[in-house]
Amino acid sequence: MIQVFRIMANMFKRFPQPIYVTRPFLPPIADYTKGLERVWASAHLTNHGPVLRQFEAALREYLRTENVALFANGTLALQIALRALDIKGDVITTPFTFAATTHALVWNGNRPVFADIEPDFYTLDPAAVEAAITPQTEAILAVHVFGFPCRLDELAAIAGRYKLRLIYDAAHAFGVTVDGQAIGAFGDVSMFSLHATKVFHAIEGGLLMFHDFRLRECLDLLKDFGIASETEVVLPGLNAKMNEFEALMGLLQLDHVPAIIEHRRRFDAIYREQLADVPGLRIPDLPSRNVQYNHAYFPLEIVAGEFGMSRDELVERLQEYNVFARRYFYPLVPDYACYRELETKDPLVVGRRVADRIVCLPIYDSLAPEDAGTIADLIRSFSRGSH
Ligand SMILES: *Cc1c(COP(=O)(O)O)cnc(C)c1O
Repeated sequence: MIQVFRIMANMFKRFPQPIYVTRPFLPPIADYTKGLERVWASAHLTNHGPVLRQFEAALREYLRTENVALFANGTLALQIALRALDIKGDVITTPFTFAATTHALVWNGNRPVFADIEPDFYTLDPAAVEAAITPQTEAILAVHVFGFPCRLDELAAIAGRYKLRLIYDAAHAFGVTVDGQAIGAFGDVSMFSLHATKVFHAIEGGLLMFHDFRLRECLDLLKDFGIASETEVVLPGLNAKMNEFEALMGLLQLDHVPAIIEHRRRFDAIYREQLADVPGLRIPDLPSRNVQYNHAYFPLEIVAGEFGMSRDELVERLQEYNVFARRYFYPLVPDYACYRELETKDPLVVGRRVADRIVCLPIYDSLAPEDAGTIADLIRSFSRGSH
């Protein structure tokens, strides 16, 4: 039996093309070129053009709120959200995220205070947030990491009790709903990234969904140099406008979002089923039934002692077969060179353990189901049980 599995591992062929962790969805090219004709005819290439206005209207309908605003990218959108909310002090945030979450705080002059994550879905642990609050704390910046909703009720309760702003980095979470509501409906402001690597993209782009309609004016000013009229500039704004080419990509893509998510759900099911009994793997459960998940990522933890090889070794072995799984999120943000000097009181026990074990497998709409099956078989063949 043992021998048979070893032979099987040797029988896997290297994929002819590299399989990356994601691959952007592209609408039919004819649809895009048809849209380009419209852009050519208007010669309106950016600055709140007609395609952008149509995209914004479509998003309002999709997200069922008037309060949406589009930006050049998610990072600028997040910086602008912090500025519009006038947050000047410390902000409690997660170490288990992409660097941009923290960068946005630093660019806005806020001190990031890292608190630990919970072990089930890797989102900010409300108890750790509460323990990190000081008189300098002004806000919580939580991340729906991998599209998994944060502990919404508990974070909202803490924010309410201590009079803190609650901001969500929902970069991974477009298409996620909780009790039928778009995830962006929670907190003061939520940021979706529309970058090409995300479930729903506009090549590059950022989207804010916000609670208080009065924020709109400030957001619009902040993304357009603070220009209020031909002769009046009222604040030192940025240039963070989305252009028509990006808006067109986003607009065409929006109709495909349910199909994109359905494809991803199938790959999630393939991995989940075929890896279920492999020793040393910890696969997070799907979120509870009131959550419609977007399957943005397929993360799993490798427990080296049980699996028989470390996470890093697994990543290398997969690369021999042309499969590029990614160590999201390793290292933790506070371990990056630019943040090592920051004082962090929380020992981040869970975050460090997860960062050492986590790996994300390829998942995207155009992945072939048999390829997902082969990737799962490869992982099984590496495990202790098979050699
Ligand atoms: C992608 C991402 C961002 C940044 O979004 P951009 O649109 O690329 O600027 C921010 N936070 C998280 C968690 C991300 O994954």
